[in-house]
Amino acid sequence: MTMDRIPLIAGNWKMNGAVAESVALARAVAAGVAPGCELLVCPPAVLIPPVVAALKGSAVAVGGQDCHFAESGAHTGDIAAVMLVDAGCSHVILGHSERRADHGESDELVRAKTEAAHAAGLIAIVCVGETLAERDGGETLTRISSQIEGSLPDAVTAENTVIAYEPVWAIGTGRTASPADVEEVHAHIRADVERRFGKGVAAGVRILYGGSMKPSNAAELLAIDGVDGGLIGGASLKAEDFLSIATSCP
Ligand code: PEP
Repeated sequence: MTMDRIPLIAGNWKMNGAVAESVALARAVAAGVAPGCELLVCPPAVLIPPVVAALKGSAVAVGGQDCHFAESGAHTGDIAAVMLVDAGCSHVILGHSERRADHGESDELVRAKTEAAHAAGLIAIVCVGETLAERDGGETLTRISSQIEGSLPDAVTAENTVIAYEPVWAIGTGRTASPADVEEVHAHIRADVERRFGKGVAAGVRILYGGSMKPSNAAELLAIDGVDGGLIGGASLKAEDFLSIATSCP
């Protein structure tokens, strides 16, 4: 972690929660805000308004878990980036492996969504990560490079984009990548970003690690060179665990 990149600890609540418990969770997170890092929670879409209201005046930001690439129109069930902004969001997670798997999202689609997020003024958290078969086949770095190349639009800056490295096999499984593997992939991503977007963007862009991060392993993962925070699923559903991870930021 360099001095210039403030760590971001982002909670992906996925498809969990109802109004009362989500408001309570948001309030508990806000009450324990950890100095030295930025905190973000990403509730399911229908819970964004009550969570935004609960977090009003706090330092905790709110994000969506997906958006459509179009601004409006005949897209039943989808949500536009501008709607997330209107609801009080500052960020949106895009290209999460669960969306890539459940909804067949391609790099091209993730790129179009990222463009829409940027146009709406959202910070896009673009997720990349290899499957276990790809890791076992020695294809991790080429897979990551092709996702980075295909999913990021040309207008990426250090301010409008965060990259999340999430090995698919480590999400929700209790398994984490080794510190050496995480360091290697993060350095690889930063080198790809430098080649395409230049030194300034590469030096400033935050690259998060995600995949079974929890209080017991957060300090080790967050201390790895090139890791600028975490995208946290399961452990973000308990304020105590989420805040414990946040206070582990170096
Ligand atoms: C995620 O869904 O982005 C994630 C990292 O989940 P978990 O922390 O539960 O592995």
